[in-house]
Amino acid sequence: MSTIGFIGLGHMGGPMAANLVKAGHHLTVYDVVPVSLAGVKIAANLAELIKDVDYVISMLPAGIHVREVYLGADGLLAHADRSIIFMECSTIDVKTAKAIHEAVEKKGGVCVDAPVSGGTASAAAGALTFMVGGSDQAFEQVKPILEAMGKKIFHAGLAGCGQMAKICNNLLLGISMIGVCEAFNLGKALGLEPKAFFDICKEASGQCWSLTQYCPVPGIVPQTPANRDYEPGFMAKMMLKDLNLAEDAAHTVSATTPLGEKARDLYQAFCDAGYQDKDFSGIIEWLVWQ
Ligand code: NAD
Repeated sequence: MSTIGFIGLGHMGGPMAANLVKAGHHLTVYDVVPVSLAGVKIAANLAELIKDVDYVISMLPAGIHVREVYLGADGLLAHADRSIIFMECSTIDVKTAKAIHEAVEKKGGVCVDAPVSGGTASAAAGALTFMVGGSDQAFEQVKPILEAMGKKIFHAGLAGCGQMAKICNNLLLGISMIGVCEAFNLGKALGLEPKAFFDICKEASGQCWSLTQYCPVPGIVPQTPANRDYEPGFMAKMMLKDLNLAEDAAHTVSATTPLGEKARDLYQAFCDAGYQDKDFSGIIEWLVWQ
């Protein structure tokens, strides 16, 4: 079993770390807010976290936090004095992901960008999908660790390719969630029972993950944020971050993403209206008033 340092025990990182403990790994964890998790050592800072571990996993909100944690004056790499294998699992921009790869390699370490798909229910169930960017050798080295947290581990390509896959996936997710919300809202306004629509749509050509696994209407799919007043889950501000990542990425290659742009604008307005900490599926109620 391996010694692993885990940074960022939020909605996703908490259950991911718990699954590593369950699999028998020895964990040291660090977060800027106080955390409690049975069977782990809590580090007071990043220097303490990295002292005795062979692997590091980070699950942070955004690129700015990842830069601070890895490249900051008192960050991980300032204290990495031997070959450590880093798995950066947050959803961030490709440029930052590549900068982290480069900085780790300069220190003689191994790095993969390994963002996830699946949400908090999959994180708790150890059923995440990982999209890994890095060399073939690095992929083989991290796969057994990632398997304790995920069911599907894909090698997307070289450094940064995991983030490319994740950004494109979440572009689609943001658009599809709004599409599902619009369909439910229209059906209801026309006099269609939401459950009747769900039963039909999940067998028809409109079915997608936002409908079948993350239904935004309460009382239809158990354990979705819709059943707990849209407590996250996946916060609206995180979806906005990802749609901005997609738009920024699109600009770098002059790709056109008109629906992505519209979804970004809708999530921006939803967040500006004060719902940034609600689950992203909560946009269903706000859309009715637009
Ligand atoms: P979160 O805000 O719940 O958790 C992030 C954690 O990082 C928090 O506990 C925070 O205190 C900690 N943190 C922030 N700055 C830190 C620092 N400098 N040092 C140490 N810890 C720090 O976010 P989340 O929902 O767990 O998402 C984490 C990442 O996973 C994001 O990039 C998100 O886009 C991605 N993601 C989330 C979901 C989801 O459903 N929530 C699904 C897939 C991917």
